Amino acid sequence: MPVRGEATGFPKSARPLNMVSMISFDVSTRAHTQMIDITDRVQSLLQRSGVENGMCVVFVPHTTAGVTIQENADPDVQHDLLVALAHAVPDELPGGGYRHAEGNSPAHLKTSLVGSSVTVLVEGGELVLGTWQGIYLCEFDGPRTRRVQVKAVRG
Ligand code: ZN
Repeated sequence: MPVRGEATGFPKSARPLNMVSMISFDVSTRAHTQMIDITDRVQSLLQRSGVENGMCVVFVPHTTAGVTIQENADPDVQHDLLVALAHAVPDELPGGGYRHAEGNSPAHLKTSLVGSSVTVLVEGGELVLGTWQGIYLCEFDGPRTRRVQVKAVRG
C-alpha cells in the first residue's frame, strides 16, 4: 500500500457515509516533490458512501499541492512528470524574477498547472478509471501533511 499518512474523517461505524457531507483524509508526503497514488483510499470512501452511480469529486485544498489522474503502471511516468515540471518551472528565474517572499513560487505555479481537483464518474459503486489510470496527490512543497477532500454525488 503506497499511501501513507493518518486517516481522518473515516467514521468508525460500518453504516454508509452520508455523502451530503464532505469526507476528507490526510496524506503525509515524504519528499519535496512527490506523486502519491490515492486511488484506493478514494475508492474505499466511495464504497462506504453507498453511491452506486454518479460522480466523485476529489479536491486538494492547498496552493502548493494538487491532484491529477496519471498512469499507475510505470512509476517512471510519475518521475518524468515531476522532472518535466521542474524544467518548465525553474527554481530560480533569471534576474531573480520571483517576488513571493515565502520563496516557494515554483510550488505554487506547478500546482496551478496540475490543478486542485479531479472529477471521476461512478458506475456500479466503482470509480470509472481507465486500466492504467490512478488518482495522484501531487506534492510540490513537501514533506508535509496534506488533506484530500472527497464528495460523491448521486446522479
Ligand atoms: Zn507560498
